[in-house]
Amino acid sequence: MAKSKTQKHEFQAEVKKLLDIVIHSLYTDKEIFIRELVSNSSDALEKLRYTQLSEKDILDEKLPLEIEVSTDDKENTITITDFGIGMTREDLIENLGTIAHSGSKSFLEAVKEGEGINENLIGQFGVGFYSAFMVSDSVEVLTHSYKQDGEHLVWKSDGSGEFEISEGSGHRRGTKIVVHLKKDQKEFSDKDRVEGILKKYSSFVQFPIKLNGEQINKVEAIWLRNKSEIKDEEYEEFYKFQTNAFDEPTYRLHFSSEAPIDINTLLFVPKDNVERLGFGRMEPEVSLYCKKVLIDPNPKGLLPEWLRFLKGVTDSADLPLNISRETMQDSNLVLKLNSTITKRFLKFLSDEAKNNPEKYDEFYKNFGFFIKEGAASDFQHRESLQNLLRFESSKSESGKTVSLEDYVSNMGEEQKDIYYLFGPNRESLENGPHMEAFKAKDIEVLYIYESIDEFVMSNLREFNEKKIVSADNSNLELDDVTSEEDALSRVDSENLCIWIKEYLGDKVDKVTVSKRLVGSPVVAVNADEFMTHSMKRIMKVMNKED
Ligand code: ADP
Repeated sequence: MAKSKTQKHEFQAEVKKLLDIVIHSLYTDKEIFIRELVSNSSDALEKLRYTQLSEKDILDEKLPLEIEVSTDDKENTITITDFGIGMTREDLIENLGTIAHSGSKSFLEAVKEGEGINENLIGQFGVGFYSAFMVSDSVEVLTHSYKQDGEHLVWKSDGSGEFEISEGSGHRRGTKIVVHLKKDQKEFSDKDRVEGILKKYSSFVQFPIKLNGEQINKVEAIWLRNKSEIKDEEYEEFYKFQTNAFDEPTYRLHFSSEAPIDINTLLFVPKDNVERLGFGRMEPEVSLYCKKVLIDPNPKGLLPEWLRFLKGVTDSADLPLNISRETMQDSNLVLKLNSTITKRFLKFLSDEAKNNPEKYDEFYKNFGFFIKEGAASDFQHRESLQNLLRFESSKSESGKTVSLEDYVSNMGEEQKDIYYLFGPNRESLENGPHMEAFKAKDIEVLYIYESIDEFVMSNLREFNEKKIVSADNSNLELDDVTSEEDALSRVDSENLCIWIKEYLGDKVDKVTVSKRLVGSPVVAVNADEFMTHSMKRIMKVMNKED
């Protein structure tokens, strides 16, 4: 009988690099490969369950949706089997030959930029399926797609640059991954050791996991459980499981409500803002469930854009199970979810800012960008968002902040407007000539250091019916602070201004006598109140000759 052909394939260059790092790094937390493979199996089962909602013709319809792990300490293997969606030949080449996983991509980028391989990086990003090569001499993937006419395929590799695909026998749906362990990784073929690892994560997997035939987890969704019965550690393990992360979340919010829509939501703010660290734009990661069935792991439109840093789960029993990912965005229910979750989270932040301002300031340092983006772009939630903005000010200690509310409540009776000043840092603002009049008159000025702050200020324009104006604006109506004594005569000072204007020519719009300076001889002010410094810089870049 002719044996079926074996096709050899090269790994994509990035995968080779990734494998090289994974295999040769001395990363100590090797057990995570089990979490990664179980989580892939769980994804494959979720996908099958989702497909079942719309497709009738599914192979082995009756197979249970569960994951089997088996250890063999004689053969020195650990095997993970699921009856999930399986893979076709194209899927195998695409999924296990290239980098599909955005975490792996970021991982490689981080390695490229950094000086070396930081052990933490693997943990931070999770390298998915390829992590199996940390502990193995070779890995076999036996798989059969859920489609009736699918092939039974065997993928094999020792991780050194190539993989091969051949036809196998048998027709069962799903995927079986056999990890042939290295001699010194024998611990992962030990049942007790593996049980310990699985117990850590398995309580969050939405399908039964069996270890050598025995079910080891209770299947329950943590987000549907009663808050008072969940331990902090459980939340933390869930967060790590859900986001493939190793950090501890900054904030956690778990709530349920019945009106206007039935939802159970568990949200996390991660420790780091990876966008700020330069890893590109974040994708929505609050997964949408309906009665424990995953509808969409990354639903666009579930939350406003500026909340893209949130992670977690929302489960609504009111969603129709057969809602398609494509039409979801327009659904009225999703709009309701969006508004309910957003309002609730804003309320949470506002309480945190009040009750634990130091922690809030820490959060704001990391994630303030998103609050500012929201304040400038989300009209619906603007009011709550502007109350969450924080600034250093001429009256705050360095590093401490005030809110717009604080500012307004400290305003003297005669002060009409809210003042801010943009500059590189506190010191240069404090010592600059613009502050002289404000200091002399004891008026508080908000200090802002980033273009986005300036953008927000010029976008808000007012707060509590008080205009927000830049302290370097030429139209400022501050009462005189200089005295008439020792002053030049009117004619002399006018002549001086004419002379300076002639000397500077087109570089300035006009030169006038200022009444707002105390110690400095001159100050340059902004003549156009609608044009911020950042806008000017942008105009300059776009329109060089102008
Ligand atoms: P990630 O799971 O984060 O996408 P991986 O490198 O772990 O990244 O896996 C790459 C892809 O391989 C997955 O997205 C999935 O399409 C496919 N895959 C992995 N394991 C399985 C499995 N058990 N069943 C079906 N598909 C799988």
